[in-house]
Amino acid sequence: MKPGTPADTKMLSFEQALAEVETRLTSAGVPPATESVSLGEAGGRVLAEDIKADRDYPPFNRSTRDGFAVRSQDVTHADTLLTLDGEVRAGEYFQTEIGPGHCAAIMTGAPLPSGTDAVVMVEHTSPQSDKIRIERPIASFENVVHKGSEAREGQRVLPKGRRLRAGEAALLASVGKEKVAVYVRPRVAILPTGDEVVPIGSKPEWYQVRNSNSAMLAAVVDSAGAAPWEIGIGPDRKEALRDLIVKAMEADMLLLSGGVSMGKYDFVEDVLEELGAEFYFRGVAIRPGKPLVFGRVQGKFFFGLPGNPVSSFVTCTLFARAAISVLMGCGFERPLFLRARLEKSVHHKAGLTTFMPARIDTRNTEPVVSLVGWQGSGDLVGVAEANGFLVVHAEQPSPAAGDWVDVMPMAS
Ligand code: AMP
Ligand code: MG
Repeated sequence: MKPGTPADTKMLSFEQALAEVETRLTSAGVPPATESVSLGEAGGRVLAEDIKADRDYPPFNRSTRDGFAVRSQDVTHADTLLTLDGEVRAGEYFQTEIGPGHCAAIMTGAPLPSGTDAVVMVEHTSPQSDKIRIERPIASFENVVHKGSEAREGQRVLPKGRRLRAGEAALLASVGKEKVAVYVRPRVAILPTGDEVVPIGSKPEWYQVRNSNSAMLAAVVDSAGAAPWEIGIGPDRKEALRDLIVKAMEADMLLLSGGVSMGKYDFVEDVLEELGAEFYFRGVAIRPGKPLVFGRVQGKFFFGLPGNPVSSFVTCTLFARAAISVLMGCGFERPLFLRARLEKSVHHKAGLTTFMPARIDTRNTEPVVSLVGWQGSGDLVGVAEANGFLVVHAEQPSPAAGDWVDVMPMAS
């Protein structure tokens, strides 16, 4: 932190910082606009309407097996003989009622004929002259999904605010929603800064680096469901930086990278301050990513991410992604930590919650995690090999090989 920063300067723990982002975003209460999209375009979007069942689900008593539809009260003991009245296939229905002592052949997915209340699997039957032998007793509703047991007509099956994935898509299709109301994707401005940073299409001088942060941040924003808006590269000069930040403020949220450390030319915070920004924190006790800045300027939330590519990646994944989920209309989606067994001991210096690029795999049915790359400053080769992060909490002792540890899978 720079000398002379105002009193709102705070260094928060990882959990405190996450809670701060959650509180600020959820209490801002800006309801996103809605639009109607076709089901095929709705993946990853957030539902802006409650969805109700248009009829009972299933709409009839449905067989879950190929076999024989019977009256269960006829089949209370093994080796009952029943008279076969006919057959009902999926996509058809049986025209007449099945009386006592009778049955009908039935296929998976077909509606039970009236009079019947159970299905005997074909494996538990055998033909005997013109009858069917049922080899074991059966209970009412065995191998049958009861009409309305999944949902009743008019019942809410999906709530507003739900993020749409494969399961939701199937449910929407089954209730006949070809188009659904979803929240408009928030636009997230991505503004990298640094005089040494050049566009990816140019050949850098030996003292320059290509802008890798915009591509990475855009991918994270996109995977969070929002629309990335890449703005050119901001220089380490106040005036020019100010113009770009003002442009970026047209978006719903701002992701700035670089220029938030203690360097003489780290002007991002100064410019934001001049634009009237309120800072909620300036620094989080995490590694990498300690200089992370979070605040609001002229109504727009911003994150000042450290320029170091791995720091930028970690802080965006931990904090900006969760903030975006609120703007998406689905509430605060915390980063998900799971557990895996550590393959090799890791040294951890207490004090900072640490996120190390790692490979999470399944070995002999068990989730395992191992570090990748050289774990040094900005190691993008390591990051590209990783599919997640090993998480070591601030006060946790160095984890040893074989320990169960927290891991955070990367969003795809
Ligand atoms: P800074 O946070 O501005 O001090 O930058 C920290 C490190 O990250 C420096 O080595 C920068 O060259 C590098 N860096 C900053 N911005 C980018 C970017 N957009 N793409 C790749 N590297 C960057
Ligand atoms: Mg810089």
